[in-house]
Amino acid sequence: TNNRTPLVAGNWKMNGSRSLVETFSHSLNAQSFEGLDVVVCPPDGYLSMFNNEHFSLGAQDVSHLDNGAHTGDMSTDMLKELGAKYVIVGHSERREDHNETNLLVAKKAAKAKQAGLIPIICVGESLSVREAGDVKSFVGEQIAALFAEMTSDTLNDAVIAYEPIWAIGTGKTATPEQAQEVHAFIRKTLTEHDEALAHRTRILYGGSVKPDNAKALFGQPDIDGGLIGGASLKTDDFMAICQAAI
Ligand code: PEP
Repeated sequence: TNNRTPLVAGNWKMNGSRSLVETFSHSLNAQSFEGLDVVVCPPDGYLSMFNNEHFSLGAQDVSHLDNGAHTGDMSTDMLKELGAKYVIVGHSERREDHNETNLLVAKKAAKAKQAGLIPIICVGESLSVREAGDVKSFVGEQIAALFAEMTSDTLNDAVIAYEPIWAIGTGKTATPEQAQEVHAFIRKTLTEHDEALAHRTRILYGGSVKPDNAKALFGQPDIDGGLIGGASLKTDDFMAICQAAI
């Protein structure tokens, strides 16, 4: 047992509409999620359109810089004004599409924390890394990079999401045992820096979480909830996944 509050975050990616915002606001506010933190991460432009009484909002990315001449980027202060409490950083799609490095991801996480946003820091290996048997060294490096920019103090309350790239959007989920093994490794890595930090850090699993596999994943001792892509666009599926985490 532990006293970590489970967390389920939906990552809409570049999907959604004003009407989906209304549907989610309505459905999620009709529920109570006692003992669970629920977060919806829509594209930035939709953040302020939500009515979110029973859940929190998050952004999908943030700049590591202050306001200024950085066309197309969003600052931590802007996201906060729009209602975000959380922000995903280092999603594999950002690492891939925008060449985000471990160092940049760490800078974004540090910036978010400094501004009072809770970063959901994504890590996870590709299929080729897994097949080569290098999961722990790869994920270990992603975690180590955080400590180059942040101390265990500044990482306090940050969230980590383990998202094996081969399981994202593929319908191929990690087995609960495969996920637990990496989650335990991440927690052990945190322990080497700070035992208290390791105990309180929430580590989410992401990668084709659906209503029918959520319970088994969330039941693992080091899995504290999920980061949900595809299934976060359907209210019924998303709410069923939330229920599975309670
Ligand atoms: C994600 O992109 O964060 C994700 C987990 O996607 P999906 O649930 O669709 O695999």
